[in-house]
Amino acid sequence: MFSYLMEKILKFGGTSCGSVVSIQSVISIIESNFKAQTKFAVVFSAMSGVTNQLLEAGNLASKRKNIDNSIIEDIENRHFEIIKHFIPVTGQSQVIAQIRTLINELRDVLKGISLIKEISPKTSDLLVSFGERLSTQLIFSVLQQKGLPVEYVDSRILVKTNRNFGKSEVLFSETNPLIQSYFKDNSVKICLITGFIGSDNNGDTTTLGRGGSDYTASVFGAALDVREIEIWTDVDGMMTSDPRKVSAAFTIPSISYAEAMELTHFGAKVIYPPSLQPAFAKNIPIRVLNTFNATFKGTVISKESTLSPYIITGISSIDHLSLVNLQGSGMIGVAGVSAKLFTVLAREKISVILISQASSEHSICFAIEPQVSEKVKAILHREFSAEIESGDIEGIDIQNDLSVIAVVGEGMRKHTGVSGKLFSVLGKNGINIVATAQGSSELNISVVIEQKDLSKALNVIHETFFFSQLKTLHLFLVGTGLIGKTLLAQLIGQERYLAKYKGLKIKLVGMANSRKQYINESGIDLKKAIEILDSKGSEHDLTSFVADLKQLNLPNSIFADCTASKDIYQFYLGLFHANVSVVTPNNVANSAPYALCAEFHQTDAAKGQNLLYETDVGAGLLVIHTLQGVV
Ligand code: ASP
Ligand code: MG
Repeated sequence: MFSYLMEKILKFGGTSCGSVVSIQSVISIIESNFKAQTKFAVVFSAMSGVTNQLLEAGNLASKRKNIDNSIIEDIENRHFEIIKHFIPVTGQSQVIAQIRTLINELRDVLKGISLIKEISPKTSDLLVSFGERLSTQLIFSVLQQKGLPVEYVDSRILVKTNRNFGKSEVLFSETNPLIQSYFKDNSVKICLITGFIGSDNNGDTTTLGRGGSDYTASVFGAALDVREIEIWTDVDGMMTSDPRKVSAAFTIPSISYAEAMELTHFGAKVIYPPSLQPAFAKNIPIRVLNTFNATFKGTVISKESTLSPYIITGISSIDHLSLVNLQGSGMIGVAGVSAKLFTVLAREKISVILISQASSEHSICFAIEPQVSEKVKAILHREFSAEIESGDIEGIDIQNDLSVIAVVGEGMRKHTGVSGKLFSVLGKNGINIVATAQGSSELNISVVIEQKDLSKALNVIHETFFFSQLKTLHLFLVGTGLIGKTLLAQLIGQERYLAKYKGLKIKLVGMANSRKQYINESGIDLKKAIEILDSKGSEHDLTSFVADLKQLNLPNSIFADCTASKDIYQFYLGLFHANVSVVTPNNVANSAPYALCAEFHQTDAAKGQNLLYETDVGAGLLVIHTLQGVV
């Protein structure tokens, strides 16, 4: 059997190193690996927030606002708190002294910065290195005190990089032998390694880019050919979508490197994207685990993901971006324009998030970070001034306030119709697609949409691809007379039937009657709806009710007009335009002037929404039937 010099590399992120509770969990994870006689080493990030604090302190010092003591004291206190909790009083002073030595050194660096009133990238790297050195030193002392055979490893002696301060590249030909020979000599100890930092050939401290501790873990894992790399973070692995935006998101048990790369590129922050590379090259699986839910299996990233029951693997998004559109008839057939464009962007270090070119070659459009949009505009006007002058390029437009959603999965190669499904669900919900791009690997379809639609879009896409069984319909009920009450009663009675046989979940999110109105996005209990409206509702004002409803921009929204009022139909058209279907027994509205009806039906046809009319809502089942027709 192949015997490993080292079987596993564990890496703990900032939140895992950030508090008494999390460090407790880190200790037990390390202890259980030790008890299982696993050969392993551990990489640590700085305590959560410390890297940012150090950068902030450096920035303040460079403006000669002297050294900001409150930041340093805060960092110091957080470390002391851990010592006081985990180390018996008799042992504390020695450990406190070690931490103080580092903090004093840190103060000296800040002093230097404040004296010369400048912080270079090189100094900045030295400054932030204290974050990882402090946290690793701290956890080393805690574990040592517990009697574990630990060894503190300052990764600057092993990880050699170029001098690209702030985001240095690892020199593998020097680094790998250093790591290998170090571990040959230290294979009986549990090595605790500072993440994120390295050094160049002059011995100057460098860093691997923000979030770079993951990269450190991958570099060590690859050099030592470990069986597995474990990234311990504060969420349950990689999720089908960002759980803060999509409450139905769930953990992806298994994912390929390529898929993980696409998802992280498009904003899934669980792992620092470059970290996948060294592991991928050696075919070492990376397991993403949750320090706060340590028994949960998390996500395995490996060469091939195990068969997923879903066509896609995950959905991620970049929330803010700008789209640049370069157009002109002079670009047709002129191979040089895109070559020149991307050369210029590369030279100016502008990173391009997505590119899409119409096959007419009449325009090229690409997405960038909004912070650089003004700069890009200036660069393009300068570089293409001749083409603009001659009319070959007619315009350079920049559109802001956009987001991109990437739908990712190897399964898309085998299935047709994924993009059809994607576009149709977006269309049905009135979400305008500004641009699209599909990688030729067929691993990713990206759509650029307006930022205001992002959360709605993520939710409907997630619902379509992961939970097509159960669709949520958002109901706004106006009128709580006999008809409204009957409808409520029937919704209660039919709830289970609708879920089980029709795949529908009807969520009441808004109510109004002639006195009051109430909206609650998380849903109103159907059984208590009337009382809730009475007690929590605000004064009736249908204009603001409809405005709030539109503002919420919920997918699959239905407006049930259970009134007999002739004033309501004036809102219908606006509702259609906002992509809300209307269900009503209100024949006053339906017998509205012919022109209005015609307009309803035009809107209706154009946007895929519905005006559904039931004369007899007393038999509320018909309304339910109509509701089903809406989605
Ligand atoms: N502490 C560094 C940062 O915040 C590296 C890391 O956390 O991975 O970027
Ligand atoms: Mg981090």
